[in-house]
Amino acid sequence: MARVVVLGAGTGGMPAAYETKEMLGKAHEVIVVNERPEFRFVPSNPWVAVGWREPDAITLPIEKYLKKKDIGFICAHIVEIDAHQNCLVASDGARIDYDYLIIATGPKLAFSSIEGAGPQGYTQSVCTLDHAKQSYEDFEKLLQQPGPVVVGAFQGASCFGPAYEYAFILDKALRDAKVRHKVPIHFVTSEPYIGHLGLAGGGDSKSLLESELRQRDIKWICNAQVDKVNDGLMHVSELNRKGETEFTYELPFNHAMLIPPFAGIDAVAKVEGLCNPKGFVITDAHQRSPRYPNIFSGGVCVAIPPVEVTPVPTGTPKTGYMIETMMTAIAHNLKALIIDGKEPNTKGTWHAICLADMGDTGAAFVAMPQIPPRNITWFKKGKWVHLAKIAFEKYFMRKMKTGNSEPVYEKYVLKALGINRLEEEAIEKALESDRK
Ligand SMILES: Cc1cc2nc3c(=O)[nH]c(=O)nc-3n(C[C@H](O)[C@H](O)[C@H](O)COP(=O)(O)OP(=O)(O)OC[C@H]3O[C@@H](n4cnc5c(N)ncnc54)[C@H](O)[C@@H]3O)c2cc1C
Repeated sequence: MARVVVLGAGTGGMPAAYETKEMLGKAHEVIVVNERPEFRFVPSNPWVAVGWREPDAITLPIEKYLKKKDIGFICAHIVEIDAHQNCLVASDGARIDYDYLIIATGPKLAFSSIEGAGPQGYTQSVCTLDHAKQSYEDFEKLLQQPGPVVVGAFQGASCFGPAYEYAFILDKALRDAKVRHKVPIHFVTSEPYIGHLGLAGGGDSKSLLESELRQRDIKWICNAQVDKVNDGLMHVSELNRKGETEFTYELPFNHAMLIPPFAGIDAVAKVEGLCNPKGFVITDAHQRSPRYPNIFSGGVCVAIPPVEVTPVPTGTPKTGYMIETMMTAIAHNLKALIIDGKEPNTKGTWHAICLADMGDTGAAFVAMPQIPPRNITWFKKGKWVHLAKIAFEKYFMRKMKTGNSEPVYEKYVLKALGINRLEEEAIEKALESDRK
């Protein structure tokens, strides 16, 4: 009997556990390890930050639902991965052995690289539920004392969607509270242009997002590097294409929310030969570590090079559906290794389907594959996206309760749109191996 341990029960880890268990069946053990007893649905954090969502609505107890599928759960904060002894070490010293490990630990938030940044400094964050709750308190203060706001993404950030989402949502929330006229908003971003998104854009993302910002009276600064943040004052340099400082700004603010650069969490980053210098796990095309063949990884914690060099550093986003394709591939590859006695041969498509809420409307982005050059890419706006994003939250939460990580209708509806989780060749091979 093989023992597969999934480290991290987030957007990637939960589907990874369900799919791996389904692939391996009763004869093998799947155990999830997470530092908290509850699953938290990260994409809804911006709504929490303006009071549109109660935290309870986007969390669920992990153990209760995993148990129904015969998947084990250990609540532990992991401080070390002993990749030579095949075991995890928890903060209380407990050791958790594995035969195969799936690392799905998401990001470490690297606020410390910028003086005064982050909830420990003077800016808010929506990256975790606790941060979003803290940001909501600051938002309430803003309603009491309206004044300038800065929203955006620091240098080195890779996750730009939530920055735009928060700017549009905040604008709507301030309009609803009838104080928007007292709140000048600046969007400050390391992207070389609006709508770049760490992806060299997609479809007409540039003009669409510029137009939306203009219509909402949100000014922007691109190629922005935040030099430091003081209490209520942000020091920003705008770089030119040669990477030289062209302009400097001192932006006062009553409320600021900027997405930080991401890195790998410490326990993962310090495993010798596992990661790149930022602590992201290096994987081959099958999501497997070249150095440790019994370790697989998917989600924000994997290493993906930037799509292109930008004057201010930016990274490539790892989005929800892309992450699910990685996890589906891992489940297939573990079955190949453990049951079929074959080498991994399945690759995720890494397609991106993103829904960005704008308060009363929204923007949808499909990129296949996510990294250019692409076969298909489009970016469209409409009220349907706002409704689809609400539906997506309910749908994903339900999926995490039922344990059916790719329900039949998702499989067939997306397939009808030409969106597959696995590369065609890999699907054929997997089916072939199923048939044998
Ligand atoms: C604010 C925000 C909004 C986003 N919105 C969207 C969106 O709308 N659409 C989209 O496609 N993508 C979105 N993304 C991008 C991406 O889908 C999410 O970041 C997603 O949650 C990443 O999944 P993950 O499994 O890699 O990491 P996470 O969901 O962060 O999960 C990591 C898990 O590992 C656990 N963990 C970490 N370290 C340890 C440790 N040492 N010991 C034990 N457990 C540990 C964490 O507690 C967590 O449960 C968003 C990202 C952010 C930050």
